[in-house]
Formats: sequence, C-alpha cells, structure tokens
Amino acid sequence: MTRTGITTGNVARTQSAKTRSFSIGSVQLGGSQFVVMAGPCSIESREQFIRVSQAVKGAGAAVLRGGIFKMRTHAKSFQGLGPAAFEIAREVRSLTGMPLVSEITDPRQVGPLGEVVEMFQVGARNMHNYDLLKELGRSKKPVLIKRGFSALIEEWIAAADYVRNAGNESVALCERGIRTFEKYTRNTLDLSAVAYVKANTDLPVIVDPSHGTGVKNLIKPMSLAAAAAGADGILLEVHDSPDEALSDGAQALTVSDFLDITRDLDRLLPVLGKTLQKANAQSVGFSVPLSTGEHVL
Ligand code: PEP
Ligand code: MN
Repeated sequence: MTRTGITTGNVARTQSAKTRSFSIGSVQLGGSQFVVMAGPCSIESREQFIRVSQAVKGAGAAVLRGGIFKMRTHAKSFQGLGPAAFEIAREVRSLTGMPLVSEITDPRQVGPLGEVVEMFQVGARNMHNYDLLKELGRSKKPVLIKRGFSALIEEWIAAADYVRNAGNESVALCERGIRTFEKYTRNTLDLSAVAYVKANTDLPVIVDPSHGTGVKNLIKPMSLAAAAAGADGILLEVHDSPDEALSDGAQALTVSDFLDITRDLDRLLPVLGKTLQKANAQSVGFSVPLSTGEHVL
C-alpha cells in the first residue's frame, strides 16, 4: 500500500476513498468548496498580471495562476520572466490577498520560488522528474502534479507518492489532457481518470480544460463536466488581451468568457453538493463588467 492509499499493481480497486483536504494559503482544497484557479499562462509584465488577477478575483477565482518559469516546446518561444517576475508575484499576492500557483522546473527553484508562491505546479513535462518530486517532498508547500502527456493513471498517482513519501502530504493531481490520435483538440481531456482517482485515492484532483482541449469554446463545457466528474477544482488560463499573449493565446479565455463559466458553476455546484469557493470576504459576488477584454484597474 502506498501513501495515496492505492495498491501498486492493483489499481482496478473501486473502493471509495475519502479525499484528504489541505490548504493553499487561505483556500481549502479537497472539501465541499470547488476551487477555481485562474490567471494568465505566463506573467508577462506587472501591469498585465495586476489587470488579469484583479479581473479573475472579481469574477470568481479563489487562487491565481501565472507562469514564471515556462517549459516551452520550442527554444525560441517565450520562456517566462523567471526571477524578474518574483517581485511582481509578491506584489499581486498582497494586492489581491490571493494564493498563487506557479510552475517549478528545477529543484534549485524550491527556495526562491517558494518565497513567492503558495503552491508549486509540476508541469506535464516534469511529471517523471523524480529528483524534482523528491525535493518538493522535502518542502512544506502544497504541490500540484500535472499528468504527463502519456502517463498512465498509475504513473500519475505514483508521482504523488514520491512527494508524499519524502514527507509532504499536501499533494493534488491535475488532469490536463493526454496525447492521443485526435487532432481537432490539443489534447484529449480524460475525465474518467478524474473519477478514477477520486474513487480510488485520497488525492484532491484539479482539471485543466485550457490545456486539456486547447480550444476556447470547449473550455466551458469541460469545466462543468469536470465538476460533475467529481473534481475539486479547475485551472483556467485567462488573458485580458488573448491576441497579444506571449504564450497559449489561442486557448486563453477573456474575462467575460471566464465569468460566463464561473456563473454557471455557481449554479451547478449546489446540485453536486458543493459550492464555489470565493476569493475572500471582500470579493463576494461578481464585480467585473461583462464586456470582453475590459481592463478593470
Ligand atoms: C501551463 O500550465 O501553462 C503548462 C505549461 O501546463 P502543462 O505542463 O500541463 O503543459
Ligand atoms: Mn499554458
């Protein structure tokens, strides 16, 4: 038996497991509140991150996302601002009062990145990086493990066990689509894996329909389906000007698209016995104007 409560080599068990809840800053993950994590693919500038963060906060997000170290397929693509974004992250967290999740790409970043994020994201390309997972296990910060492009559910759960076995119990999995023969979507979002992990392990599960589909108008139906499949939250890419985004612009939601999703989630979740986690006391309700791409500073 492993820490995640599953017997390796016997993953077909259907016994229902109780999710182990933990907090990401002030936000509880894995309980009866559904957590929406949102923000740009990458932090591009101070102004861009402030605009998008304030907008998603007003539109129903509880946790911010924003890439600092990027794992891009092409060497010439924007690689993230790196340490130049640390001060921006610090400022935006204090401005919004929201926790931040951001990708860690190297074990040496645990110390410095850990100063400016509440949760480390392990990218799909690093799910099999066991030295990184062990180092994160020695940290106290929550860890979100994206599913590798072609990872079996068993391998994905085993990655979480690396972190837990090294001493860090605050681990959640993120389904972000797997690579199949399909070409009309960027990846194939595997919601059956979400239901499987929820039924058979104690790990909270987040769904990322942005990378999971790569197609803007599929993100809303897959967000609602993720909630219905039992996910504890979703991770969405939002940009105030998607056409100008330095990474993943084609799949970026506008603030108005995002608000449309959180409004429907707010209505659907009670049917599923859950409620939408709001950012904090000051941001109850939706405060963002509906027009597409509107800046709210
Ligand atoms: C991301 O979240 O921006 C990202 C790069 O995700 P993934 O590792 O799932 O490709
Ligand atoms: Mn992205």
